[in-house]
Amino acid sequence: MSSELRPANFNDIIGQESVKQRLRIMIAGCTGNEVMPHILLDGPPGLGKTTMSNAIGNELGVKVHTLNAATIRNIKSILPYLMSVERGSVLFIDEIHRLPTIVEEFLYPVMEDFRIDLMQDNEDEGIDIPPFCMIGATTNGGNLSQPFYDRFTIKEHLQFYTPDELANLARSSAEKMGMQLSDSELLGIAERSKGTPRICNARLKWFKSYVNYHKRKDDVDTIFNEQGIDKHGFDINDRQYIEVLKSRIGQPLGLKAISTLCGIAEDTITNSIEPYMIRKGFVVRTPKGRVLGKIK
Ligand code: ADP
Repeated sequence: MSSELRPANFNDIIGQESVKQRLRIMIAGCTGNEVMPHILLDGPPGLGKTTMSNAIGNELGVKVHTLNAATIRNIKSILPYLMSVERGSVLFIDEIHRLPTIVEEFLYPVMEDFRIDLMQDNEDEGIDIPPFCMIGATTNGGNLSQPFYDRFTIKEHLQFYTPDELANLARSSAEKMGMQLSDSELLGIAERSKGTPRICNARLKWFKSYVNYHKRKDDVDTIFNEQGIDKHGFDINDRQYIEVLKSRIGQPLGLKAISTLCGIAEDTITNSIEPYMIRKGFVVRTPKGRVLGKIK
Protein backbone atom coordinates (compact mmCIF):
# COMPACT_ATOMS: atom_id res chain seq x y z
CA MET A 1 0.00 0.00 0.00
CA SER A 2 2.65 2.53 1.06
CA SER A 3 4.58 2.50 -2.21
CA GLU A 4 1.45 3.36 -4.24
CA LEU A 5 0.76 6.25 -1.87
CA ARG A 6 4.34 7.53 -1.74
CA PRO A 7 4.71 10.91 -3.46
CA ALA A 8 7.47 10.95 -6.10
CA ASN A 9 8.46 14.63 -6.07
CA PHE A 10 8.51 17.74 -3.90
CA ASN A 11 5.25 19.19 -5.21
CA ASP A 12 3.35 16.09 -4.07
CA ILE A 13 5.06 15.91 -0.68
CA ILE A 14 2.72 17.51 1.85
CA GLY A 15 4.14 19.81 4.57
CA GLN A 16 7.85 20.09 5.57
CA GLU A 17 7.83 23.35 3.58
CA SER A 18 10.99 24.90 4.99
CA VAL A 19 12.95 21.63 4.59
CA LYS A 20 11.81 21.33 0.97
CA GLN A 21 12.65 24.98 0.29
CA ARG A 22 16.22 24.63 1.62
CA LEU A 23 16.69 21.43 -0.39
CA ARG A 24 15.28 23.11 -3.53
CA ILE A 25 17.90 25.85 -3.18
CA MET A 26 20.70 23.28 -2.90
CA ILE A 27 19.29 21.20 -5.78
CA ALA A 28 19.12 24.31 -7.99
CA GLY A 29 22.83 24.80 -7.27
CA CYS A 30 23.65 21.35 -8.67
CA THR A 31 24.03 22.34 -12.28
CA GLY A 32 26.75 21.12 -14.62
CA ASN A 33 29.34 19.10 -12.79
CA GLU A 34 28.17 20.00 -9.28
CA VAL A 35 27.16 17.01 -7.12
CA MET A 36 24.61 17.33 -4.29
CA PRO A 37 26.35 17.38 -0.88
CA HIS A 38 25.68 14.58 1.62
CA ILE A 39 22.41 14.90 3.55
CA LEU A 40 21.34 13.60 6.97
CA LEU A 41 17.58 13.33 7.54
CA ASP A 42 16.54 12.89 11.14
CA GLY A 43 13.10 12.26 12.64
CA PRO A 44 10.74 9.66 14.10
CA PRO A 45 9.58 6.72 11.93
CA GLY A 46 6.97 7.33 9.26
CA LEU A 47 7.52 11.10 8.87
CA GLY A 48 8.77 10.82 5.29
CA LYS A 49 12.55 10.37 5.34
CA THR A 50 12.50 7.66 2.64
CA THR A 51 9.91 9.58 0.66
CA MET A 52 11.98 12.78 0.81
CA SER A 53 15.17 10.93 -0.21
CA ASN A 54 13.56 9.40 -3.28
CA ALA A 55 12.04 12.75 -4.19
CA ILE A 56 15.49 14.40 -3.92
CA GLY A 57 16.76 11.83 -6.43
CA ASN A 58 13.83 12.57 -8.75
CA GLU A 59 14.29 16.33 -8.44
CA LEU A 60 17.99 15.90 -9.27
CA GLY A 61 17.09 13.53 -12.10
CA VAL A 62 19.46 10.83 -10.82
CA LYS A 63 19.25 7.20 -9.79
CA VAL A 64 18.67 6.37 -6.10
CA HIS A 65 20.44 3.28 -4.73
CA THR A 66 18.95 2.10 -1.44
CA LEU A 67 20.28 0.05 1.43
CA ASN A 68 19.35 -0.53 5.04
CA ALA A 69 22.22 -0.16 7.50
CA ALA A 70 20.85 -3.03 9.59
CA THR A 71 21.93 -5.42 6.79
CA ILE A 72 25.53 -4.14 6.77
CA ARG A 73 27.70 -6.22 9.09
CA ASN A 74 31.18 -5.33 7.79
CA ILE A 75 33.10 -3.34 5.17
CA LYS A 76 32.76 -6.14 2.62
CA SER A 77 28.98 -5.94 2.67
CA ILE A 78 28.85 -2.22 1.82
CA LEU A 79 31.46 -2.39 -1.00
CA PRO A 80 29.07 -3.53 -3.78
CA TYR A 81 26.86 -0.48 -3.10
CA LEU A 82 29.81 1.90 -3.26
CA MET A 83 31.17 0.26 -6.41
CA SER A 84 27.83 0.70 -8.19
CA VAL A 85 27.29 4.45 -7.63
CA GLU A 86 27.35 6.67 -10.70
CA ARG A 87 28.45 10.30 -10.81
CA GLY A 88 25.86 12.46 -9.02
CA SER A 89 23.63 9.53 -8.03
CA VAL A 90 22.10 9.16 -4.57
CA LEU A 91 23.03 6.39 -2.14
CA PHE A 92 20.23 6.27 0.43
CA ILE A 93 21.19 4.54 3.70
CA ASP A 94 18.17 3.95 5.92
CA GLU A 95 18.66 3.59 9.70
CA ILE A 96 22.21 4.87 9.26
CA HIS A 97 22.76 4.93 13.05
CA ARG A 98 22.88 1.11 12.86
CA LEU A 99 26.10 0.98 10.80
CA PRO A 100 28.92 -0.77 12.70
CA THR A 101 31.64 1.67 13.86
CA ILE A 102 34.21 0.04 11.58
CA VAL A 103 32.00 0.76 8.53
CA GLU A 104 31.32 4.33 9.72
CA GLU A 105 35.09 4.94 9.92
CA PHE A 106 35.67 3.30 6.55
CA LEU A 107 33.15 5.76 5.07
CA TYR A 108 35.03 8.93 6.17
CA PRO A 109 37.40 9.04 3.12
CA VAL A 110 34.63 7.75 0.87
CA MET A 111 32.42 10.69 1.80
CA GLU A 112 35.17 13.28 1.77
CA ASP A 113 37.38 12.25 -1.17
CA PHE A 114 35.26 9.58 -2.91
CA ARG A 115 38.05 7.18 -2.30
CA ILE A 116 37.82 3.60 -1.03
CA ASP A 117 40.84 2.69 1.10
CA LEU A 118 41.53 -1.04 1.11
CA MET A 119 44.40 -3.10 2.45
CA GLN A 120 45.70 -5.58 -0.16
CA ASP A 121 48.58 -7.90 0.77
CA ASN A 122 49.47 -5.57 3.64
CA GLU A 123 49.63 -2.59 1.30
CA ASP A 124 47.23 0.33 1.15
CA GLU A 125 45.27 0.37 -2.04
CA GLY A 126 42.89 3.16 -2.95
CA ILE A 127 40.10 3.04 -5.50
CA ASP A 128 38.54 6.26 -6.73
CA ILE A 129 34.78 6.17 -7.20
CA PRO A 130 32.53 8.77 -8.87
CA PRO A 131 31.37 11.62 -6.60
CA PHE A 132 27.87 10.85 -5.32
CA CYS A 133 25.40 12.11 -2.72
CA MET A 134 24.91 10.02 0.42
CA ILE A 135 21.57 10.50 2.16
CA GLY A 136 21.41 9.02 5.63
CA ALA A 137 18.08 8.58 7.39
CA THR A 138 17.95 8.12 11.13
CA THR A 139 15.48 8.09 13.97
CA ASN A 140 18.37 8.81 16.26
CA GLY A 141 20.80 11.45 14.98
CA GLY A 142 22.41 11.61 18.42
CA ASN A 143 23.74 8.08 17.95
CA LEU A 144 26.13 9.00 15.11
CA SER A 145 29.74 9.64 16.06
CA GLN A 146 30.72 13.31 15.76
CA PRO A 147 33.16 12.85 12.80
CA PHE A 148 30.52 10.90 10.85
CA TYR A 149 27.80 13.44 11.69
CA ASP A 150 30.11 16.29 10.62
CA ARG A 151 30.60 14.77 7.15
CA PHE A 152 26.97 15.46 6.26
CA THR A 153 26.88 19.00 4.86
CA ILE A 154 23.08 19.25 5.01
CA LYS A 155 21.23 18.21 8.16
CA GLU A 156 17.45 18.34 8.26
CA HIS A 157 15.04 17.35 10.98
CA LEU A 158 11.54 16.31 9.89
CA GLN A 159 8.76 17.63 12.14
CA PHE A 160 5.45 16.06 13.10
CA TYR A 161 2.62 17.18 10.81
CA THR A 162 -0.31 19.38 11.85
CA PRO A 163 -3.85 17.90 11.69
CA ASP A 164 -4.58 20.18 8.69
CA GLU A 165 -1.53 18.88 6.81
CA LEU A 166 -2.50 15.29 7.58
CA ALA A 167 -6.09 15.97 6.50
CA ASN A 168 -4.67 17.09 3.11
CA LEU A 169 -2.52 13.98 2.98
CA ALA A 170 -5.54 11.82 3.86
CA ARG A 171 -7.54 13.52 1.07
CA SER A 172 -4.86 12.77 -1.50
CA SER A 173 -4.39 9.16 -0.30
CA ALA A 174 -8.18 8.60 -0.12
CA GLU A 175 -8.49 9.67 -3.77
CA LYS A 176 -5.77 7.20 -4.77
CA MET A 177 -7.63 4.50 -2.81
CA GLY A 178 -10.91 5.36 -4.55
CA MET A 179 -12.60 6.74 -1.39
CA GLN A 180 -14.79 9.82 -1.02
CA LEU A 181 -14.57 11.33 2.47
CA SER A 182 -16.05 14.50 3.99
CA ASP A 183 -13.84 17.26 5.44
CA SER A 184 -14.81 16.27 8.99
CA GLU A 185 -14.00 12.60 8.35
CA LEU A 186 -10.61 13.58 6.92
CA LEU A 187 -9.89 15.76 9.94
CA GLY A 188 -11.07 13.00 12.31
CA ILE A 189 -8.62 10.58 10.70
CA ALA A 190 -5.83 13.21 10.75
CA GLU A 191 -6.36 13.92 14.46
CA ARG A 192 -5.97 10.21 15.22
CA SER A 193 -2.70 9.87 13.26
CA LYS A 194 -0.18 11.12 15.85
CA GLY A 195 1.27 13.69 13.46
CA THR A 196 2.62 10.90 11.22
CA PRO A 197 1.89 10.25 7.51
CA ARG A 198 2.50 6.49 7.74
CA ILE A 199 -0.04 6.22 10.58
CA CYS A 200 -2.46 8.46 8.67
CA ASN A 201 -2.39 6.10 5.66
CA ALA A 202 -2.86 3.11 7.97
CA ARG A 203 -5.86 4.77 9.68
CA LEU A 204 -7.35 5.44 6.26
CA LYS A 205 -6.93 1.80 5.30
CA TRP A 206 -8.74 0.77 8.52
CA PHE A 207 -11.54 3.27 7.75
CA LYS A 208 -11.96 1.74 4.29
CA SER A 209 -11.92 -1.85 5.60
CA TYR A 210 -14.44 -0.99 8.33
CA VAL A 211 -16.89 0.54 5.84
CA ASN A 212 -16.47 -2.40 3.44
CA TYR A 213 -17.00 -4.93 6.22
CA HIS A 214 -19.98 -3.32 7.97
CA LYS A 215 -21.46 -1.99 4.71
CA ARG A 216 -22.12 1.34 6.46
CA LYS A 217 -20.25 4.47 7.39
CA ASP A 218 -20.41 5.15 11.15
CA ASP A 219 -19.03 8.27 12.80
CA VAL A 220 -15.24 8.50 13.10
CA ASP A 221 -15.28 7.83 16.88
CA THR A 222 -17.19 4.56 16.46
CA ILE A 223 -14.99 3.43 13.57
CA PHE A 224 -11.76 3.94 15.53
CA ASN A 225 -13.14 2.71 18.87
CA GLU A 226 -13.54 -0.68 17.22
CA GLN A 227 -9.83 -0.60 16.33
CA GLY A 228 -8.87 0.40 19.87
CA ILE A 229 -7.70 3.86 18.80
CA ASP A 230 -8.80 6.80 20.99
CA LYS A 231 -9.36 10.45 20.08
CA HIS A 232 -5.65 11.25 20.53
CA GLY A 233 -4.79 8.48 18.07
CA PHE A 234 -3.31 6.40 20.90
CA ASP A 235 -3.34 2.61 20.66
CA ILE A 236 -3.11 0.05 23.45
CA ASN A 237 0.69 0.42 23.81
CA ASP A 238 0.45 4.21 24.08
CA ARG A 239 -2.25 3.93 26.74
CA GLN A 240 -0.33 1.32 28.70
CA TYR A 241 2.72 3.60 28.71
CA ILE A 242 0.60 6.49 30.02
CA GLU A 243 -1.05 4.27 32.66
CA VAL A 244 2.36 3.28 34.03
CA LEU A 245 3.37 6.94 34.38
CA LYS A 246 -0.02 7.79 35.89
CA SER A 247 0.35 5.11 38.52
CA ARG A 248 3.60 6.78 39.71
CA ILE A 249 2.32 10.33 39.68
CA GLY A 250 5.13 12.81 40.36
CA GLN A 251 7.75 10.05 40.55
CA PRO A 252 10.08 10.08 37.51
CA LEU A 253 10.57 6.72 35.84
CA GLY A 254 13.59 5.55 33.82
CA LEU A 255 13.29 3.89 30.41
CA LYS A 256 14.19 0.43 31.72
CA ALA A 257 11.57 0.57 34.47
CA ILE A 258 8.87 1.73 32.05
CA SER A 259 9.80 -1.00 29.58
CA THR A 260 9.57 -3.68 32.28
CA LEU A 261 6.31 -2.36 33.72
CA CYS A 262 4.61 -2.00 30.30
CA GLY A 263 6.15 -5.07 28.68
CA ILE A 264 7.11 -2.92 25.68
CA ALA A 265 10.64 -2.94 24.15
CA GLU A 266 12.82 0.08 24.97
CA ASP A 267 13.36 0.81 21.25
CA THR A 268 9.61 0.90 20.61
CA ILE A 269 9.18 3.29 23.52
CA THR A 270 11.93 5.69 22.43
CA ASN A 271 11.27 5.53 18.67
CA SER A 272 7.53 5.10 18.31
CA ILE A 273 5.77 6.07 21.53
CA GLU A 274 7.67 8.89 23.18
CA PRO A 275 8.58 11.38 20.42
CA TYR A 276 4.94 12.31 19.73
CA MET A 277 3.95 12.31 23.41
CA ILE A 278 6.88 14.57 24.28
CA ARG A 279 6.13 16.86 21.32
CA LYS A 280 2.53 17.21 22.55
CA GLY A 281 3.62 17.77 26.15
CA PHE A 282 1.84 14.61 27.38
CA VAL A 283 5.15 13.38 28.76
CA VAL A 284 8.16 15.31 29.99
CA ARG A 285 11.70 13.94 30.11
CA THR A 286 13.54 15.22 33.17
CA PRO A 287 17.13 14.37 34.16
CA LYS A 288 15.65 11.92 36.71
CA GLY A 289 13.31 10.19 34.27
CA ARG A 290 9.94 10.53 32.56
CA VAL A 291 6.96 12.21 34.21
CA LEU A 292 3.43 12.78 33.03
CA GLY A 293 2.63 16.16 31.47
CA LYS A 294 -0.87 17.42 30.75
CA ILE A 295 -3.38 15.25 28.95
CA LYS A 296 -6.53 17.11 27.96
P1 ADP B 1 10.24 7.18 7.07
O1 ADP B 1 11.27 6.84 6.04
O2 ADP B 1 10.52 8.49 7.77
O3 ADP B 1 9.99 6.08 8.06
P2 ADP B 1 8.42 7.07 4.82
O4 ADP B 1 9.08 8.00 3.86
O5 ADP B 1 8.58 5.61 4.57
O6 ADP B 1 8.85 7.42 6.32
O7 ADP B 1 6.86 7.47 4.87
C1 ADP B 1 5.84 6.57 5.23
C2 ADP B 1 4.69 6.71 4.27
O8 ADP B 1 4.03 7.95 4.52
C3 ADP B 1 5.12 6.76 2.79
O9 ADP B 1 4.87 5.57 2.14
C4 ADP B 1 4.29 7.86 2.15
O10 ADP B 1 3.18 7.26 1.51
C5 ADP B 1 3.75 8.66 3.31
N1 ADP B 1 4.35 9.99 3.44
C6 ADP B 1 5.40 10.31 4.22
N2 ADP B 1 5.64 11.63 4.18
C7 ADP B 1 4.73 12.15 3.34
C8 ADP B 1 4.46 13.49 2.90
N3 ADP B 1 5.17 14.53 3.36
N4 ADP B 1 3.46 13.68 2.02
C9 ADP B 1 2.72 12.63 1.60
N5 ADP B 1 2.91 11.34 1.99
C10 ADP B 1 3.91 11.10 2.85
